[in-house]
Amino acid sequence: MLVPSDCIFCRIVARQIPSQIVLADDVLTAFRDASPQAPTHVLVVPNRHVASLHDLGDQALAGRLLLAASEVAKQEGLERAGYRVVANHGPDAGQSVGHLHLHVLGGRVMRWPPG
Ligand code: 5GP
Ligand code: ZN
Repeated sequence: MLVPSDCIFCRIVARQIPSQIVLADDVLTAFRDASPQAPTHVLVVPNRHVASLHDLGDQALAGRLLLAASEVAKQEGLERAGYRVVANHGPDAGQSVGHLHLHVLGGRVMRWPPG
């Protein structure tokens, strides 16, 4: 598979970089965050390169990603206690990887507002 070689998440999707994949299909991949901020911390990414939420513009893909986030939460047993889904866009939000990803966080109590 030809991928943007400088995009770490494209390389994870292409299985060129190892990760702990928890869910994958033809349009998305979900894998454990390398630096987890909660007992469960999974990233849900589109298989095709999309830089951020702001560049998504694809209703069907947006829906698939969101439903996958809830599916991951269910798989991880977070449905009852609760979980958080986050998409960081741009520098003020602290986006550090330029390939859209939804964070699925759970397994501990989370504060609001976020930092
Ligand atoms: P952001 O800060 O862009 O919202 O989130 C990027 C996330 O990607 C961070 O939580 C970071 O720990 C995670 N991450 C960065 N590089 C890798 C990697 O190579 N593998 C995995 N599994 N996660 C990564
Ligand atoms: Zn990418």
